[in-house]
Order: sequence, then structure tokens, then C-alpha cells
Amino acid sequence: KSFKKVIIVTGGAGFIGSHVVRRLVTRYPEYQVVNLDLLTYAGNLENLRDVEAAPNYQFERGDITDESGMTALFEKYPVDGVIHLAAESHVDRSISDPLQFVKTNVLGTANLLNVARKAWKNNFDGKRFYHVSTDEVYGSLGESGFFTEETAYDPRSPYSASKASSDHFVMAYYHTYGLPVVMSNCSNNYGPYHFPEKLIPLMIHNIMKEKPLPVYGKGENIRDWLFVEDHAAAIDLIFHQGKTGDKYNIGGFNEWKNIDLVMLLCEIMDRKLGREEGASAKLITYVTDRPGHDLRYAIDAAKVNRELGWAPSLQFEEGLERTVDWFLANTGWVEHVTSGAYQKYYQEQYGSH
Ligand code: NAD
Repeated sequence: KSFKKVIIVTGGAGFIGSHVVRRLVTRYPEYQVVNLDLLTYAGNLENLRDVEAAPNYQFERGDITDESGMTALFEKYPVDGVIHLAAESHVDRSISDPLQFVKTNVLGTANLLNVARKAWKNNFDGKRFYHVSTDEVYGSLGESGFFTEETAYDPRSPYSASKASSDHFVMAYYHTYGLPVVMSNCSNNYGPYHFPEKLIPLMIHNIMKEKPLPVYGKGENIRDWLFVEDHAAAIDLIFHQGKTGDKYNIGGFNEWKNIDLVMLLCEIMDRKLGREEGASAKLITYVTDRPGHDLRYAIDAAKVNRELGWAPSLQFEEGLERTVDWFLANTGWVEHVTSGAYQKYYQEQYGSH
């Protein structure tokens, strides 16, 4: 069967990538969607169980840092577009193992750009390389102000430094070789399939199990939160309509102090679990702050709204309710992804490809 377009989504088995793959596979049956993922601890094919049988979906296991592997992938598929999400994504892990972040995020991105440029033989008609990045590249804000697309980069953690570097390589390939790139920088995502080491799913999980709820410092850090399906919708829109060589900030217009967010989650969970009011909040324990913990991130998403008409579709309370409901209905998922049981099962079922 021939497809109108072939799109490689890297990191498609991860949290955001799986929502992007699901959206493309279901909305665009005329596209072939190839999910390229190494299946590290963060990648789980179980996230895509509902679409894995679709005729326009294909999984390929591979490493973005592997030059010959990525070249072979571009030889196997007539690739029109890349949506690049594969990365190491957890700030705490970047503090304990920074070089892994340099390898995957910097070298991996540069390798993909290079392989794409060579495979496309400098003929970029109808091609597009979309790089998905974070607002953390902008550094930290005080009490006021917002990050715009013009804000100078000022990364503070090994994670954000590696993402900032990858963003620079993307723009360098645009300016130097004319590679048709587009990029977005998004605030914190939350929603179904969120790996349980991150704040919101960790809190939901611990509240369920009545385990302590670790909050960094005094819980004063402020983050902007966006429902993951709204991010996937923005990526879809920018991939199709974003201006080549341009970048777009994506955010939820939704700032929360960590402690207020945890309190809100406790209230929702008390209600859902039929616990006494205030029961879950008693589990909160303050732990030593993360070193170099950025105080506040706030993103100005006016450009993507003005130029492409994107806006978040969900209120935060509604998004959180949906997220909590999903985690309560999918307790088996958390157990599988943390034990790696599904990956083992899948390999036994299907081999490594
Ligand atoms: P994630 O950790 O859930 O998923 C990352 C995926 O990449 C996993 O499936 C993993 O197996 C895969 N991967 C890792 N190394 C690889 C390699 N060498 N080759 C191929 N695949 C590899 O991450 P996420 O939270 O879904 O984030 C996806 C992207 O979005 C990242 O680039 C991240 O920087 C960016 N981002 C995330 C957020 C957020 O709140 N989570 C916000 C803004 C931007």
C-alpha cells in the first residue's frame, strides 16, 4: 500500500510521543506513521496497545545515536517528515548521569539531523524536520514575566543544557544547510501514560498506596501545566502549518505552585477514594530541594495562538480529574511499566522488532 506521507516519530513509545503517534495514526489514515524508539526504561509499547494493529502504524526499534541504524531506516522508508521526541527527559536523572543526556539529546539529535539531510540529498521539497523541545531551555523566572520565543536561552540543569544544545543544532541545520526545520518549546505536560517517576503520577500513585508524598524544598517552585493531548494537538498543527525555520512556545496559561498542585491532587483523590477530607494531605513530607532547582517557568503561548489558532482545550481541574480517573482505572499499567514486564512479554511475543 502506498501512503501519501511517511512520518517517523522518534520516542513514540514515551509519554508525549505515544499521544502524538495515536493522534496521527487515527486522524491521518493516509499517512504511514513509523514509531522509532529504543525502548529505554521510559518507552513502553503498552502505551500504544490500542493502535498497534492499525495498517498505517509501524514500530521500529532503534537508537537515534546510531548512524548506520538511522541511515538504514531512511533507506527502508521514503521519509517525508520527522517528528523528533526521543530524549532522556527526567531532570533528576540528568543530575545523577549528565553524560547520558549529552549522548541521547545532543549527539542523538545531531545524528538524526545529519542522517535526514544526507538521505534527502539536499532536496527538501515536501520535507519537514520537527524538533520537540522544552521551556526549560529559557532558565528560571522571578515572580513576574514570561518566556517568549525571543527570550535568550539560559539553561541551568544538565537536562535543559542538553535540550538547549539540541535546539541550537536544529537551527544550525536550518541556517547552514537549509534543512526545513520547525520547533516548539512546551511547558510541563501531564495526563494518561505519564511515567510514574514524574511529579503528578508519582503523587497519584503514592496517595493510592498511602505512601509519603515527597515535596522539594517548601513546594514554592512554580510550573505551567498542559494536558498532554493538547500538546499533541499543537504538535499536529505546527507540523502541518508552522512556518519553516520558526519556533513556537506552547503552554497552558496555567501556573501552579508545586505545593498547591499537590494539595489539589490530595483533595481530588480523597473524594475519588472515599477518604476523609484531609487524609491524603497528611502524607505530604518536605524533602531537600533539588540542586539548582529553577524557581518559576511561565510560557507566553500567544504566537501559536495568534498565528495558528491553537489554545488549550481543557481547564486544569478537568484535566487532572481525567488523569486521576485514568490512573485509578489503569493500576496494572503502572505495575507493568515499572517492572518492565510488558517489554519482556512483547519481546517474547514479537521478537525485538
Ligand atoms: P519520555 O521520557 O516519556 O519518552 C522518551 C522516549 O524516547 C522513550 O520512549 C524512550 O524509549 C525514547 N528514547 C530514549 N533514548 C532513545 C534513543 N537513544 N533512541 C531512540 N529512542 C530513545 O519523554 P516525554 O516526557 O514524552 O518527552 C518527549 C519529548 O518532549 C522530549 O524531547 C522532551 O524533552 C520533550 N518535552 C517534554 C515535556 C514534559 O513535560 N514531559 C515538556 C516539554 C518538552
